Amino acid sequence: MLKDEDRIFTNLYGMKDRSLRGAQARGHWDGTANIIEKGRDWIVDQMKASGLRGRGGAGFPTGLKWSFMPKESDGRPHYLVVNADESEPGTCKDREIMRHDPHTLIEGCLIASFAMGAHASYIYIRGEYIREKEALQAAIDEAYDAGLLGKNAAGSGWDFDLYLAHGAGAYICGEETALIESLEGKKGMPRMKPPFPAGAGLYGCPTTVNNVESIAVVPTILRRGPDWFSGFGRQNNAGTKIFAVSGHVNNPCVVEEAMSIPFEELIDKHCGGVRGGWDNLKAVIPGGSSVPCVRGEKIRDAIMDFDALKEVGSSLGTAAVIVMDKDTDIIKAIWRLSKFYKHESCGQCTPCREGTGWMMRVMDRLVRGEAEVEEVDMLFDVTKQVEGHTICALGDAAAWPIQGLIRNFRDEIEDRIKAKRTGRLSAVAAE
Ligand code: SF4
Repeated sequence: MLKDEDRIFTNLYGMKDRSLRGAQARGHWDGTANIIEKGRDWIVDQMKASGLRGRGGAGFPTGLKWSFMPKESDGRPHYLVVNADESEPGTCKDREIMRHDPHTLIEGCLIASFAMGAHASYIYIRGEYIREKEALQAAIDEAYDAGLLGKNAAGSGWDFDLYLAHGAGAYICGEETALIESLEGKKGMPRMKPPFPAGAGLYGCPTTVNNVESIAVVPTILRRGPDWFSGFGRQNNAGTKIFAVSGHVNNPCVVEEAMSIPFEELIDKHCGGVRGGWDNLKAVIPGGSSVPCVRGEKIRDAIMDFDALKEVGSSLGTAAVIVMDKDTDIIKAIWRLSKFYKHESCGQCTPCREGTGWMMRVMDRLVRGEAEVEEVDMLFDVTKQVEGHTICALGDAAAWPIQGLIRNFRDEIEDRIKAKRTGRLSAVAAE
């Protein structure tokens, strides 16, 4: 279990003082100017050496991403945009950072922006996060008053402004280019890539979009050194990570742990075990609603990191772990996700616009058993036609949960169809 002294987020549960004074007492904003004094290249190299991979879901190496930004400005400003749109069902980790430990993020914004030559950064926060926005804005105001932001931020010689933008609640604005469009005041619709944001992002200027947790861990990594950070987890899966565990565990929680923690240890130590005991575990969605579910018996021995979860046919994603026990109607649970993705599709590409609705309607019939067994293969086929054929990853996000369902619980789907035929079906309907 991760020791308390190794936790980056020391106020994740809001039990301590979240103000600037409290944050400073816990070691934040300590020697920020000294870090900046070491220069851009040093910071980017340290981040590369730490092995930090983006915490927003895709797991792209953070230091490498920063190095894509132009070294010199061609006259256009550079921007850091922080993606605080956290809207993936099951995911609620950035929220805890913003409402209880906001100064980790603010200090991270300054250092990361300096490392990318940005004098301004925008945090784009999810529309529904109203209290979180208030807490974060209060912390930003405090930082300005203390001279940690603004001209000569934190005495570093770097001028830096940080703005908080409040979204309107669309899931798709969590996609980095849709987020940029929305920040610019347009409809939040993903852009075609290339150009990538590092070439032409916000207002056509070089931009890096990073997740809240990815930025909030930066100051501590630089203070304690990349070796300390990469000492947690396995190679290529380094660091500490915030897990958000929900569903059928005795104590759902958000917890910072070492990467590569065994699944059973995570659930037993922090969540009081699975409701009804381990034999009652049916399935787990290990990384937020868009990743495929895994059968309970298959995930029990897994460890929680990028590579290991790939091996069991899923993904670490946002590390939002949704646990389902044997009371769960797994077909209905996945149908609900299909409905969500259909609702959130921005509609600009045909496979996603039409496919999400098509998939949801078939899922709707599968819940009730009103389908032919052959349609299961047809549905799988359609998910393959959506996956990878759209402008953004929402198409994949809609396809993967259904693929996971069919791969892991095909027997249950077929049983329901047969039961419906023979009149044995208990009343389960998608309502
Ligand atoms: Fe919009 Fe879906 Fe296409 Fe993404 S995949 S751009 S959400 S239609």
